[in-house]
Amino acid sequence: MSKEVIVLPGDGIGPEVISAAARLLNYVGSFEINSLPIGGASIDKYDTPLTDETLQACRTSDAVLLGAVGGQKWETSDPEAPRPEQGLLNLRKGMELFANLRPVRPSPAAYEASPIRKELLEGVDLLVVRELTGGIYFGQKDRIRHTDKTKDTAQDTCEYSWQEIERIAHVAFRAAQQRKHKLTSVDKANVLETSRLWREVVTDVAKNYPDVELNLLLVDNAAMQIVSKPASFDVILTENMFGDILSDESAMLSGSLGMLPSASLGKEDSPGLFEPIHGSAPDIAGKGAANPLATFLSVALMLRYGLDSPSEAEAVETAVSKALDEGLRTKDLGGQATTIEATDKILSYL
Ligand code: NAD
Repeated sequence: MSKEVIVLPGDGIGPEVISAAARLLNYVGSFEINSLPIGGASIDKYDTPLTDETLQACRTSDAVLLGAVGGQKWETSDPEAPRPEQGLLNLRKGMELFANLRPVRPSPAAYEASPIRKELLEGVDLLVVRELTGGIYFGQKDRIRHTDKTKDTAQDTCEYSWQEIERIAHVAFRAAQQRKHKLTSVDKANVLETSRLWREVVTDVAKNYPDVELNLLLVDNAAMQIVSKPASFDVILTENMFGDILSDESAMLSGSLGMLPSASLGKEDSPGLFEPIHGSAPDIAGKGAANPLATFLSVALMLRYGLDSPSEAEAVETAVSKALDEGLRTKDLGGQATTIEATDKILSYL
């Protein structure tokens, strides 16, 4: 029986990169691909960014591939109105995906597309492991409204439990064991209580991994070092919001958000969610200018971690590197290739 992949195109450039990815998937294997709406597309159809049916289909599939969600059309000041991003947060929570892995390995062929100097990029090969279902994005939110809105106040609560930190720390240490045996845990322990707990747990978990060197770094310092000496990092482990920010910063080492894949994993044997880290890019949606490479590299992660097809994963990654080496450049990388031309090129190398 062929494995089932649910594709969730979403909004903006999401449908463009997912349709390119479906071509790629059909090319490398025989998968049952079913497409369902999420985000704004789901709000338009069902008045909710994620239906129970879509969540259930994702939970029982073999793997899920997502494009991106969001756009101005659904932005509103009404706190009760459904929001596209809520669909993604609910999907991650509903699939119990607590670990987000974002590898960053700039291709030498695309060094010139990065704002960082070439000599700093040599040897960069890092992995951001971000906690995905806890912290401030999921804590209690409040808005106290007044007739005079200049008196309004708002609050978001950041909460972490020992167990939530412990399970993500194990994922990161195990990843470091497969790589260069270095782990940098990033927090703000000089100010935040959740960060002090984070440090305590990570230091405790480290005792199980004597072959991994642990460094503890404050987030402001980490933000500086990611651009000043990026090659010094191996695995970066951090909480939800810091991981969101640092992984976008790390993305710029690769020259464009259009180059970075991600995998979100939960318990063993449950399906993972694979997605490019970029958003719906409304500024270029519908223009055929979306770089599909981050989605192709997400397909490679899906083939490896979700569909038990490591040789197909490697073939996709090799085709992407080869195409970049031979000059494939979409607009975000300073070239002219369209989404379809880039896809044709990658398929021609497979
Ligand atoms: P964005 O990632 O959509 O775009 C940032 C910049 O990068 C834009 O100039 C865009 O054109 C460019 N870019 C992004 N992906 C690209 C690609 N594949 N090829 C070429 N260029 C690319 O971030 P944003 O503008 O801050 O957000 C736009 C919308 O996306 C918002 O509604 C936001 O909430 C949403 N968003 C969704 C996700 C997600 O679905 N995972 C992630 C981030 C933002």
